[in-house]
Amino acid sequence: MISYKDLGLVNTREMFAKAVKGGYAIPAFNFNNMEQLQAIIMAAAETKSPVILQVSKGARNYANSTLLRYMAEGAVAYAKELGWEHPQIVLHLDHGDSYELCKDCIDMGFSSVMIDASSKPFEENIEISKKVADYAHKYDVTVEAELGVLAGVEDDVASEKSHYTRPEEVIEFSTRSGCDSLAISVGTSHGAYKFKPEQCTVDPQTGKLVPPPLAFDVLHEIEKKLPGFPIVLHGSSSVPQEYVDMCNKYGGNLPNAIGIPEEQLREAAKSAVCKINIDSDSRLAMTGAIRKHLAENPSHFDPRQYLKPARDAMKEMYIHKIINVLGSDGKAE
Ligand SMILES: [Zn+2]
Repeated sequence: MISYKDLGLVNTREMFAKAVKGGYAIPAFNFNNMEQLQAIIMAAAETKSPVILQVSKGARNYANSTLLRYMAEGAVAYAKELGWEHPQIVLHLDHGDSYELCKDCIDMGFSSVMIDASSKPFEENIEISKKVADYAHKYDVTVEAELGVLAGVEDDVASEKSHYTRPEEVIEFSTRSGCDSLAISVGTSHGAYKFKPEQCTVDPQTGKLVPPPLAFDVLHEIEKKLPGFPIVLHGSSSVPQEYVDMCNKYGGNLPNAIGIPEEQLREAAKSAVCKINIDSDSRLAMTGAIRKHLAENPSHFDPRQYLKPARDAMKEMYIHKIINVLGSDGKAE
């Protein structure tokens, strides 16, 4: 048993309480490798923003769970080396699909886990989420559960059809499951293809596709039912056109990639939404920068030559999100 406290990590309890009160949200950035982790820590240290390092089941298999524990410990030490005196870093399991996986992560130094039984019937979702919460709370690990179904594809999570979270269910669910935060479905979606072109309207000025707005009415109803309770938004990449264009210009093929407009996320961050998940934007920034570099420098074959600009692009993107979308800069001095 490795306690996250010995690794210098923190759970989400205090940072969420502050974020809900302060009207901002904590960034949850997914990572799979060293360059993404470096970029996240550099961005968080530079802006003094609390940060959630998020690992999916697929990423854990990719990176190796033993190595991850040391990467997280290293991330805290690296943050201090960069001059961040009191780093607030969470290591969080994204979309845990079983009690066993959540327990394994808690035993390996994670400070927060998500149990996603949202595809199961209501009672079963409560039962599994409660089992995870009971175990996690023994070790002061915080738990995110999910109610409602998001559309889209992300690692092991895929759903054809979405349905919004039903506000009339949230009190019973959060009380009985004992979860510390609740992921809801209000129109965000996983992946870089969040909406089909036929779901969008066309901006007559630019000719670009405009996605349907988030269901703020549902979000506000949930907020009213659970005053002050931390709410989480998954699938909240904006799929910046500059990175999509960069991918496509240098040999990629990402037609009609569409994300959530940043103005809407900024609006959500001011509400009880206190954790916003961003993964695809990092993938796009990294891939765009690598494609561009290799296309312009066909003789390069040292990975550092193309991973450095990729890391720089991700860092710049993370800083932009922290300052201009989430508003979490300066919240962890
Ligand atoms: Zn997700």
